[in-house]
Amino acid sequence: MLDLLFTQCSNPDYPTLVDVGVLGGVIVYLAEHAASIEVPEANETIDLQGKVLLTGLVESHIHLDKALLLDRISDDVTTLRGAIAKSGELKRSFTAEDIMKRSMRVIGEAVIRGVTHMRCHVEVDPVIGLIGIETTIALKKRLKNVIDLQIVVFPQEGLFMDDVTQGLMEQAVTMGADVVGGITYVDRCLEDHVDFVFRLAENHGLPLDLHVDFSDRPEQLAILEVVKAAEKYNMRNRVSVGHLTSLGSVPRVRAEAIANAIANAGIHVMCLPTTDLFLNGRGGSLVAGRGLTPVQLLLEQGVNVVYGSNNIQNAFTPFGTADPLDVGLLIAQTAHMGSKKDAQVLVEMATKRAAIALGLERYGLRIGADADLVVCRANDVRSLLYRRSERERVYKRGKLVAETAVSSRWYADES
Ligand SMILES: [Zn+2]
Repeated sequence: MLDLLFTQCSNPDYPTLVDVGVLGGVIVYLAEHAASIEVPEANETIDLQGKVLLTGLVESHIHLDKALLLDRISDDVTTLRGAIAKSGELKRSFTAEDIMKRSMRVIGEAVIRGVTHMRCHVEVDPVIGLIGIETTIALKKRLKNVIDLQIVVFPQEGLFMDDVTQGLMEQAVTMGADVVGGITYVDRCLEDHVDFVFRLAENHGLPLDLHVDFSDRPEQLAILEVVKAAEKYNMRNRVSVGHLTSLGSVPRVRAEAIANAIANAGIHVMCLPTTDLFLNGRGGSLVAGRGLTPVQLLLEQGVNVVYGSNNIQNAFTPFGTADPLDVGLLIAQTAHMGSKKDAQVLVEMATKRAAIALGLERYGLRIGADADLVVCRANDVRSLLYRRSERERVYKRGKLVAETAVSSRWYADES
């Protein structure tokens, strides 16, 4: 007897409707739906009648510790430097309770929208110390039956701007951070920064996730150094880079060669367009680059490209809903990805392609995978993406963790 059975589900990976059965939090039954096939018995059977059953959405890149700060910012921030400075100032008043409260609000919003996995970057520096890391580790334990959190320890203010952050990075890794973070545009010496984070990752057997080349200037190409290090340290498929927007301003032939090198090094790219489009592309020179990751060019060269919310309502990004599909739609609109096939790729970038970037081994719509599943109020992924249709039911390892019911109607003038 199954715990749960979904019948008549559509899913982009299957040409026909399928039935999906869950037992003990794991997918144990998966078969084409047909009147002639007898389905197994289950304690609860839900007929989806052709609605999309998606694997859980994967938030690849988010900052929970500095989310939801708009009510503390009175003046407009318009540059990356300004956003870093403003957040640094606000950070002085962060407490564990404050970080926990704001993080819970964002995670709640995300889970309601179908997010079952989230990679969050958490800052360490002389001001915040290990408060963010301690709080997020507690949060990860508290929510372990609702969402899988991956914690990236992240030196936002640089590794070599003071004499304590390097030690804090080491401590955070020992305490339980899952991923070593880096940022290529704060420290004075790029090589030292890259070397430090790769060594730390190597010593502890952890993957890496770096903020790289966040500008619209073609000469900012720290990615070349990261590619070199990924090869030197033998970290194929275990390195991700967020932003990579400078590459969008590089002439096409050179950009293709760099994208090819990224693909060969097995580096995953995370497009973060809500922040990038807000802070980049503002000029200062006569022609401003757009400041968007060249998503299509990277895909064409075989790079695993995914996307993330990055910031939710703060100095870096005043917008944000924690719905990955909002970001997917923004990329559809700004990276010229409007076809049916593009829509499928964009949904994959928030599901199975993101799962590859995060190294999630128990993920997928297949027998033996965790039953992290989302019932969507749409019959195909293109309309799901364009309308960001309600995620009616969200399951984490077979357990219902969120539900949404919306009823709207309109009244035509029939007089
Ligand atoms: Zn970020």
